[in-house]
Amino acid sequence: MKKLIHILTLALFAGATVTAHAKLNVVTTLPDLGALAREIGGDKVDVTTMAKPTEDPHFVDARPSFVVQLRNADVLIDGGAELELGWLPPLLQNARNPKLDVGKPGRVQASQGVRLMNVPANVTRAAGDVHALGNPHFAIDPIIAKTIAQHIAQSFAAVDPPNAPAYDANYKELEATINAKLQEWGTAMLPFKGKHVVAYHDSWPYFAHRFGIEIDLFLEPKPGIPPSPSHLAEVIGQIKAQGLKAIIVEPFHDRKIAEKVASSTGAKVVDFAQYPGALPDTDSYVKLMDALVSRLAAAMK
Ligand SMILES: [Zn+2]
Repeated sequence: MKKLIHILTLALFAGATVTAHAKLNVVTTLPDLGALAREIGGDKVDVTTMAKPTEDPHFVDARPSFVVQLRNADVLIDGGAELELGWLPPLLQNARNPKLDVGKPGRVQASQGVRLMNVPANVTRAAGDVHALGNPHFAIDPIIAKTIAQHIAQSFAAVDPPNAPAYDANYKELEATINAKLQEWGTAMLPFKGKHVVAYHDSWPYFAHRFGIEIDLFLEPKPGIPPSPSHLAEVIGQIKAQGLKAIIVEPFHDRKIAEKVASSTGAKVVDFAQYPGALPDTDSYVKLMDALVSRLAAAMK
């Protein structure tokens, strides 16, 4: 009898395990990748994202729960361009999940097929520059986001073949939405073609390139290096000389520094974000892009 109960318990446990694994377990490092994974996976996947939308993606607090999430994951989606260099490698090492090895269908590196912008001639990582491999903030270009979404759909289909048609259909729907929106976003940004914008950190070269503007003056002297008084004085001089109107800050930046620069130049501080969920009513990739375009267009008028 005792043995029978034991067997029944095992059977129940096995049943529960099968149910728990009916959905694909997807882990993403960053919230933009998480938002794209949700669009593609729909109700066939459970998506866990490690970084919070308001957290600095270069310096995410690596919690022990991340190791457990990675150990149980069927698919990992990461940037693949060193944005998560400071925190992902040790987590992966501890998780020991061979399904997530680079080259396996369970690993999507978003940078696959993306030509990185601003690749430095010399790797300057030692000086504190966090963009040593080239600029890793590429997913904010909607055309690149489509490529990432396609790779996600291919990965999900390979890991979970019975649901491949659903992943493909979800990809096609997202692709059509972004294509239609690109017209709208392009029209909204058209009056500002060739205009320059200031940013706290160099997160926006792909966004700028897509919409024909230049986001090329930064409060940070180098990516990841805090603003110094002498550098800020130089930036203030340039904003005045060029009559620049907008200073982009992200939730994890020191907004007070941007406000000081704004008050001594007449430029406006614009709250911006790379990640869905960091600004009000931006819980999807497309909604975030809507918000960015309308906020920037309003500030540049
Ligand atoms: Zn960066």
